[in-house]
Amino acid sequence: MRQAPGENSTPSPQPPPRPPGPDPLGQTGHDFARAAAEARLMARPNALKAYRRLHRTGESPGLDLHLAPIAAVLREDGPEGEVIKFTQRVPATRAVTAAGDALPQDLRTESVLIPMLGRKGQRNYTLCVSSQVGCAMGCTFCETAQMGLIRSLTPAEIVGQWFAAAHIIGIAPRNIVFMGMGEPLDNFDNVTAAIAVLKDHDGPAVAISRITVSTVGRLDGLARLRQLIARPGWHRMGLAISVNAPTDAVRSAIMPINRAMPMDQLQKMLVEWPIYGGGKVCLEYVLIPGVNDAPEHARQLAEWVRPINERYREQTGGNSDRAIVNLIPYNPRRASPWPAPAEDDVDRFLGWLLDLGLYAKRRRTKGRDLMGACGQLGSEAIRKRRAVEVGVSLGTSGPAAP
Ligand code: SF4
Repeated sequence: MRQAPGENSTPSPQPPPRPPGPDPLGQTGHDFARAAAEARLMARPNALKAYRRLHRTGESPGLDLHLAPIAAVLREDGPEGEVIKFTQRVPATRAVTAAGDALPQDLRTESVLIPMLGRKGQRNYTLCVSSQVGCAMGCTFCETAQMGLIRSLTPAEIVGQWFAAAHIIGIAPRNIVFMGMGEPLDNFDNVTAAIAVLKDHDGPAVAISRITVSTVGRLDGLARLRQLIARPGWHRMGLAISVNAPTDAVRSAIMPINRAMPMDQLQKMLVEWPIYGGGKVCLEYVLIPGVNDAPEHARQLAEWVRPINERYREQTGGNSDRAIVNLIPYNPRRASPWPAPAEDDVDRFLGWLLDLGLYAKRRRTKGRDLMGACGQLGSEAIRKRRAVEVGVSLGTSGPAAP
């Protein structure tokens, strides 16, 4: 008897599922094209073309895009335009924290698009990105610190925040600042790998001079960053330091990092920070009532900044300052022991700094209602769990991203 086709026949072998292709968010165009060719997905020139198209238009035919989905978008009107905070869902890599608290199945990155009006009235956006979920640095004024460090983000998860802003929300930011959740130098390798993608001309093509890494001043991370910016293509990357205090006594009380890496060592690092094309260094100063807002604090801060500016003038032969003090009115975190400063007090402190000869500006508070202002990022779901002990683990970088 003839067997009907397919009847009792051995099933024809199915092709094995195709392994996931290389992630175009996590590597530069040339690395991606090489990986795609090695995986026999497409020839190198085609892969590079597809990579360029993806980053320019947001479309990805034939590419495996592992973009973390947007979980929420919050908008708030401000004088310079709409502040947009968005969160993306990223997987948890463990079920409990080091303190034994249960973690949600998925975690949230948090990013904020901040509008700024230029001199000619044009509106540009700065994207504030997270480098970690939570943070280990334990700054007492900061909402994120209440979470402790949950995990570091991968390069693709960091670049994915730019991709979501540019191609899902529809705003391509002009500037990127690493001032969201996390201490970027605690996740050095992944942050710098992400910056390599962000500045890639085949990718997002954000100018390196428009990318700023903001740090509490981890000296080990700054030493590595210093080596990195010596390389061509990295010279003009921006640096911001969260100073927030004029003396070790005040700084150690609000920033545990200072107990291990005191202000004279940080000052020395900044005095010796290389000058490539006249780069300024931004010194962030969160003004907290009753903590760091007295006239002597302004005087002590001016003294601490003086050698940084003097060395710069010696080296450049000019008379401009290297340090820009960015005065940030404190945004009270939940259960904050301190209130926000009064507007008059912020203006008065700024006036003292200017009278002392510092180049200082104040940052207008944007996004306070969304808990998207500086020092206010942090996942509500995780905040609801028992507060974890936060502290600084020095000499090691943060937990490896998956
Ligand atoms: S201010 Fe920055 S470094 Fe300090 S705890 Fe918050 S996120 Fe971390």
